[in-house]
Amino acid sequence: MSPEQVDALDWSKQQGLLPVIVQDPRSLRVLMLGYMNREALLRTLELGQVTFYSRSKQRLWTKGESSGNVLQLCSIEADCDCDTLLVQALPQGPTCHLGTASCFPAAPASFVARLDQLIETRERERPADSYTTRLFERGLRRIAQKVGEEGVETALAAVVEEDEALLGEASDLLYHLLVLLRARGLGLVDLQACLAARHEEVQTTG
Ligand code: AMP
Ligand code: ZN
Ligand code: ZN
Ligand code: ZN
Repeated sequence: MSPEQVDALDWSKQQGLLPVIVQDPRSLRVLMLGYMNREALLRTLELGQVTFYSRSKQRLWTKGESSGNVLQLCSIEADCDCDTLLVQALPQGPTCHLGTASCFPAAPASFVARLDQLIETRERERPADSYTTRLFERGLRRIAQKVGEEGVETALAAVVEEDEALLGEASDLLYHLLVLLRARGLGLVDLQACLAARHEEVQTTG
């Protein structure tokens, strides 16, 4: 954000303060809400760590100044009428002073996100009598082979099978793909970050 963009913000509406929504750029989760005056915004840009104006302390407050749980600045954008900021920042620890990742309850995760979580738990705990455990024990090559097979089956089903069979094969593929990513220490969040980055490229390059 340039000095011109800072000047273009609507500082007059709320006694020199703008509400600031802080969001994790990887998960898009809202972490907290704070306020910035012009000085706090300039400090944030200069420091690369999110700094608010604390209405209770009546001074600049760099999030994490005592806890160490700073918010590493990634981007700042204004809303449509320039009176609210959306800050993307990487949290270095829990953002809420109560020790949770966010000051807000997590939105219910999608089924695929919960499946990814379950696969992560299986990988860590390796319970007996679990197909997922068996896959992890057979190793990366076997899992990769399964993804290849399910990919081919999905492609074939798309051409020659009914919807029900195609959905079945696509589900097999997605499940085994999540297991493959997890075997490499990756998850749905990483996949989403990659997709989102491409989406931004598409938007900016037209
Ligand atoms: P910190 O900025 O993490 O060093 O925390 C310093 C103090 O700021 C805490 O004791 C709280 O009073 C306040 N605080 C920290 N995090 C938050 C938050 N996410 N929302 C509101 N107040 C906070
Ligand atoms: Zn607005
Ligand atoms: Zn909080
Ligand atoms: Zn299959």
